[in-house]
Amino acid sequence: MQYVEQQGRELVRIETCDLIHYYHAIYENLRKLLVGTYFLELVDVVQPEGHNAEDLFELLVACFDLLEAQIPTQVMVRVVELKMLRCAGLTPVLTACVRCRRMLGTSGRFGFSLTEGGAVCGDCVRQGPVHQYVSAETLGFLAAANDATLQDSVGIACSPRILHESAKIIYPFMTCQLNKDLHAKKVLKDVLEHIDEGVGRTGA
Ligand SMILES: [Zn+2]
Repeated sequence: MQYVEQQGRELVRIETCDLIHYYHAIYENLRKLLVGTYFLELVDVVQPEGHNAEDLFELLVACFDLLEAQIPTQVMVRVVELKMLRCAGLTPVLTACVRCRRMLGTSGRFGFSLTEGGAVCGDCVRQGPVHQYVSAETLGFLAAANDATLQDSVGIACSPRILHESAKIIYPFMTCQLNKDLHAKKVLKDVLEHIDEGVGRTGA
């Protein structure tokens, strides 16, 4: 790739580049293309301009490899959001309470605070409002997905309830922490919400 960077100018101009991998399978499938566009925008918003983003771009390539091989699912989208947040140093606290620092149990219902950065235990929920209530199972899924490789995370089994709760906390957490909304997310809202139904219908 050849590019021109001029002092005092914010934008770098790309002159030429060679395509190493075209990801043809993504271009051939509208659902993959839309989700891939969302992943691209995620990289754009989680990484401040001008910072070294090698980890993030390696993750993006891994995401495209996965998207090329598989029809996207809601699990894949949630996992990629989590991994991107991790790359940006914004992993939510999932296994302990952000207020009292105690470790959370493996059952029961907890809170989630967007501004405080993670889960809130039952005792602390009673002492102050939280953005959302969340089950121990959902926090367990997110913690497991956060620790596992991208490939393994996408294979973790989870219920519709876990997916619903995950969607209610991860994207709002991201936009709260970054103070940005994603354009692709708005376009994709229906596609993402019904993505697994579509997979079921087509049998893919
Ligand atoms: Zn607590």
